[in-house]
Amino acid sequence: MRFEGKVAIVTGGASGIGAATTRLLAREGARVMVADLDGDRAWALAAEIGGTAHALDVADRAAVEALVDAAVAAHGGLDILVNNAGIGSFGRTPDMDPAAWERVIAIDLHAVFYACRAALPHLIAGRGAIVNTASISGLAGDYGFGAYAAAKAGLVNYTRTLALDHARDGVRANALCPGLIDTPLTAGAAAVPGLGERWHDAVPMGRAGTAEEMAAAIAFLASDAASYVTGAVLVADGGMTAW
Ligand code: NAD
Repeated sequence: MRFEGKVAIVTGGASGIGAATTRLLAREGARVMVADLDGDRAWALAAEIGGTAHALDVADRAAVEALVDAAVAAHGGLDILVNNAGIGSFGRTPDMDPAAWERVIAIDLHAVFYACRAALPHLIAGRGAIVNTASISGLAGDYGFGAYAAAKAGLVNYTRTLALDHARDGVRANALCPGLIDTPLTAGAAAVPGLGERWHDAVPMGRAGTAEEMAAAIAFLASDAASYVTGAVLVADGGMTAW
């Protein structure tokens, strides 16, 4: 029981990688607050794991601050923050609606700053861990996903900086960079003509990863087994970036 007595917030916790992470942390003893735009699914998952839920838009700073307050009030502290909520938006620059660009940056990057800013006083008090779900799209260009790639690249470097800023506070911050993972997010993007096939051909292991495989990586980074790991960018992509 790696997370006995620990309190965790998982944003985007009601679906895909976040839901798998929520289930794994809870199975290993954590009290988890499932934070998601989709309140119904968040509460359903919270009921399944015996946790709590909070419906919010992570792009809303005041709502994120209220989330952290609610988690601390419900569970008496905070040890683990998993910033996992994320969206993508397809379109090369001339076709990209500026509002869509801004929404991706707000959810995939600004929201992580809001959550870390609100959570850090609690994490410092208890020497906690932050895990940010970035993407291999943050490590190189990604055709048609400029906003997403820009936000995730920013998230990777923000995570490294968080690690430096808080290393002596006993707070660790690490990023996970998934490759192609089978979740509702990619089911939508895979509908773009030709894109799904191109992605699968690009994976040396010849398959998409699972949400559970990503949850295992996030749980490692959040756990005491990673006690000397901070500022790390863990790639879990079936070899996609190993070429
Ligand atoms: P998903 O769509 O299954 O889950 C994302 C969750 O985030 C959903 O429950 C959604 O309701 C929630 N969410 C979206 N916008 C929100 C908002 N504004 N406020 C609160 N919650 C919000 O997607 P997933 O594939 O599990 O993605 C999880 C994370 O993994 C994302 O950050 C994504 O960028 C990243 N990622 C996914 C892949 C992949 O191939 N699936 C690859 C690399 C990185």
